[in-house]
Amino acid sequence: MNDALDQWKREIERLSSGPVVIVPVETDAVRNVLNIPPVFAGRAVMVQLLSAEAFVSQLVRAHALNVNVDGPLGVFHFVILNRRRAADWEGMEDSLIAHEFGHIWLNVTGYRSLEAGTDARQACLATHASDVIQHILIREEAQRRGLDTMRFWLRVHTAALVNERTPAATTGRCEQWQAFAEWMDAMLGAPRWDLLDKYERSMTARYPALRALVTSTRDWLATIDLWDRSVYEHALHRLTSDMLTIR
Ligand SMILES: [Zn+2]
Repeated sequence: MNDALDQWKREIERLSSGPVVIVPVETDAVRNVLNIPPVFAGRAVMVQLLSAEAFVSQLVRAHALNVNVDGPLGVFHFVILNRRRAADWEGMEDSLIAHEFGHIWLNVTGYRSLEAGTDARQACLATHASDVIQHILIREEAQRRGLDTMRFWLRVHTAALVNERTPAATTGRCEQWQAFAEWMDAMLGAPRWDLLDKYERSMTARYPALRALVTSTRDWLATIDLWDRSVYEHALHRLTSDMLTIR
């Protein structure tokens, strides 16, 4: 972990009463088990998290997840790395971890993500609406700290475009909300990406119904200051209702 990242970690721990714990998880598809290191702070809490099927299926599809826990066993901020996809972030671990630290830092500084709840559809909407807004602040804050959260994003999305590994568009609402959030990341976070035009053409072809909302959301976000906490809260809720118009 580089110095800027280490400093960010210590700062989060000073602001919060719990440690930031990075947990690599190895998925063994053959035996259908998950392996985690034998000893680390909050292991019992992590075992509980990993016993929830919904959580594991989310992890399997992700490169990394962050979870903030404040329970009977204490306060923990976990960054969980999906080792099965480690080849994707080889040499860029700092970029991936900085992104997750960003989410945790926002959480402990009063820029909370929307409550996911227990309903799967609601959780999907809350996750992706929060991501659009939080990723803007994460990119800015990481940059201030000399960290680049987009390096890893660009590698993954460039590879997908170059290899034409973009999956066929699906009409499920959760997938569309996810596509919307990813498109916003590209537009706002990678304005100088040499494949941005190609990416946008591909997204427009796959998700024509999203195009108008992506553009109007970009224009609206450019006029507000998300670092103002009341503006931040309002933006989260407005974006959630806007995203509900996606069918
Ligand atoms: Zn994120």
